[in-house]
Amino acid sequence: TLKKSLGQHFLVDENICRKIVQALQQHPFQRLLEVGPGGGALTKYLLGLPGIDFKCVELDEEKVNWLKQQYPALQTKIIHHDFLTVDQPFSDPFTLVGNFPYNISSQILFRVLEWKGSVEVVIGMFQKEVAQRVVAREGNKVYGILSVLVQAFFDVEYLFEVHENAFNPPPKVKSAVIRLTPRQAIPEMSSERRFFVLVKTAFNQRRKTLRNAVKSLYTPEALKDPIFDKRAEQLTVNDFARLTFTMK
Ligand code: SAM
Repeated sequence: TLKKSLGQHFLVDENICRKIVQALQQHPFQRLLEVGPGGGALTKYLLGLPGIDFKCVELDEEKVNWLKQQYPALQTKIIHHDFLTVDQPFSDPFTLVGNFPYNISSQILFRVLEWKGSVEVVIGMFQKEVAQRVVAREGNKVYGILSVLVQAFFDVEYLFEVHENAFNPPPKVKSAVIRLTPRQAIPEMSSERRFFVLVKTAFNQRRKTLRNAVKSLYTPEALKDPIFDKRAEQLTVNDFARLTFTMK
């Protein structure tokens, strides 16, 4: 039975499955974690990759049991758990892949940010609107918290779009696959915690000038910086990083 609350839309287009696997293989990896294997559309390709330590995390017990039956090799590789609270399944860096449940897209991206020290590459299917937000640059109307937080730590690439009919049942929205690769040089910031607070505060009141939106975080003296005349969506990732140094 289909569980809507778990964002279940299963890939039925084998070409799309293969395109995702191809994108994955552009960067060598030894450990691979799949989020939400569901009916195994991607899993059946991933399981067979030679020399790869493969694991997957699925929340739906019915799918877990079905997968174990269908693919006995999965018995020890499938973790029945919520991805948002599961422990890191590998002690060494790993690649992450998934046709993600769209109802928890942002939370998945925040989890990836928590794990960024251990994640080598992420190839993920999101609803198109979220994918566009992740890759948006300053000045773009969908540029926001996700864009800045993800782009501070990852290079982002919009790989390809996927039509509704590639899924069963078809979702109401279009989808897109993106790739995240850890950045070589992360912009200097006074602390990650401050960076997160600043970015969230700035965008939570995005219609105000930046000076008004973030005034609780700065002394009046620091707020004289002319950059605060701008709006949050005009600031680059590096601007936000630099502004962490003058925070209270
Ligand atoms: N990978 C499959 C495919 O492409 O056909 C299924 C993709 S479906 C969009 C999302 C999958 O994630 C479902 O199997 C769902 O049960 C599972 N899921 C939903 N929430 C989850 C969570 N918090 N942790 C782990 N898996 C979850």
